[in-house]
Amino acid sequence: MRAEHQKAAQSCRGFMPHEEGMALYQAVAAVGAKGPIIEVGSYCGKSTIYLGSAALEIGATVFTIDHHRGSEEMQEGWDHHDSSLVDTETGRMDSLPELRKNLENVGMESTVVAIVGDALTVSYFWETPCSLVFIDGGHGPIPAHADFDSWAPKVCIGGLLAIHDVFPDPDDGGRPPYEIYLKALNSQSFIDYAAVGSLRILQKIDL
Ligand code: MG
Repeated sequence: MRAEHQKAAQSCRGFMPHEEGMALYQAVAAVGAKGPIIEVGSYCGKSTIYLGSAALEIGATVFTIDHHRGSEEMQEGWDHHDSSLVDTETGRMDSLPELRKNLENVGMESTVVAIVGDALTVSYFWETPCSLVFIDGGHGPIPAHADFDSWAPKVCIGGLLAIHDVFPDPDDGGRPPYEIYLKALNSQSFIDYAAVGSLRILQKIDL
């Protein structure tokens, strides 16, 4: 991964350790450009830059989906709230300007398409099989399961499904990302591919 991309990713707001970002970069590089790459939960684009850096090298396109109003855990009074992302006119969160700025800085505006909206709604109209889907949207039970149920079926055979913030020990973090990871394994459509920190990557197999 190009040094300037690594540097740019590390300077973005967000909750993605460098080693986990590198695992995403390597997963995109390994899976190739047979289909688009989907990211559910763009936030300010930190992980998007890792995905986009590999996509740029292999000629793939990343579609990153977010309503940019912040998930539950990013609202005021919650652990992951960042008051600098609140629109002063409306008082609502808006991470889109920061995402656009970060993508512009790394020259990825042609490689990464930002989709602004609810990932479930987008999924209803999405038919192209994806080479990689990365789920890192809302971490509550309803959004996490909806993201899995709607996007895991879009992964092509041999493609990869990445899930962030998977914590087998409840003391380390919330349950829903771990639950959807187990759901993927239990579906028998996916096998473990890589695990780095709280990132889990699974591969879709031909049943
Ligand atoms: Mg995350």
